[in-house]
Amino acid sequence: MIYYTVRDEQDNIQLITSNDEELKDFVENLKNGTFHTKVTFSCKGRGCNSSDTEERADFHGIYTGAYCDPCYENNYPYKKHDYTNGTGIADDGTPININY
Ligand SMILES: [Zn+2]
Repeated sequence: MIYYTVRDEQDNIQLITSNDEELKDFVENLKNGTFHTKVTFSCKGRGCNSSDTEERADFHGIYTGAYCDPCYENNYPYKKHDYTNGTGIADDGTPININY
């Protein structure tokens, strides 16, 4: 499912919808100001339907779909890190040890 998230200049969310007509109505009724629309896919996490997603890729750079932050951290079925030799590099660059 595709979501449209519309924010105003202060970055406040004005509308989140997956409905084209609703987006059209909103845009037609806009007054002055600058608005930003971000198009996202609904989260692929199991049991999650969040619209606040990012496009994700595994360690090898292969696109894996849209996941929200909580699902990416806790519920992501693909490799985020390079686990070769029992060590890896976290997303922030910190070396991590994996014991298994
Ligand atoms: Zn999610």
